[in-house]
Amino acid sequence: MRIDPKLALVASLQFGLSCRFDCHLWALRAPGGVILIDAGSGLANDAILENLEQDLGARQVAAILLTHSHPDHALGAASLRELTGCKVWAPEPARRIIEEADEEGSGLARARQVGFYPADLRMRPCPVAGSFAHGERFTVAGQEFQAFHVRGHSEDSFCLMTELDGKRALFSGDVVFYGGVLGLINAPGSTLEGYRSDLSRLAGLAVEALLPGHGLFTLRGGQRHLDRALDALSGNFVPRMIGQGDLIF
Ligand SMILES: [Zn+2]
Repeated sequence: MRIDPKLALVASLQFGLSCRFDCHLWALRAPGGVILIDAGSGLANDAILENLEQDLGARQVAAILLTHSHPDHALGAASLRELTGCKVWAPEPARRIIEEADEEGSGLARARQVGFYPADLRMRPCPVAGSFAHGERFTVAGQEFQAFHVRGHSEDSFCLMTELDGKRALFSGDVVFYGGVLGLINAPGSTLEGYRSDLSRLAGLAVEALLPGHGLFTLRGGQRHLDRALDALSGNFVPRMIGQGDLIF
């Protein structure tokens, strides 16, 4: 699904672009080639590469940047790397999980146990070419990003900010969704305390495009959605969270 000459959504459960185990895969045309934000489950790579060719006219991928190690975002990194020869970048706290295929650390073991993923789905080790830490600015394929470590959805969750057509875009992973919905889930590593500690890192960024890992997105006024989450978190009650009927998985 081409959003802009430089941006496409090439995998997604909610938009029906790949398979039901995939997060949103954002494809960004950078000066040095196509960058994928997240890798999906690896169960629909053919569809992803076809979408990429159709939307951006590209079959080559320069790099994959992972927002965190959950299976719907990271499991496809190993096979997409083999298929395209791209380099995989990961948050520093997720690096070992990705490289060693840690199924406990990625949440695959538990999610498989509760029936969220097929019983035979396995994680494969994936070499990581580079990693990023909170506050770090780094350049991949000629495109500059700034990394924000925001715990709450998982211990290793990051948001990645970049510039798209002169405007700030935030790939928010599963940290914050459209409408200011938080990614708090019933899984190890997901805590309200993480959000209370780190969500303020997304304050005052003047984000225009908010491009999350699931559900709706927006190309304008993205900061309003981040501010909605920050406002909700400053009150006495638990803010709205994913899994409360907003999205079907
Ligand atoms: Zn996740």
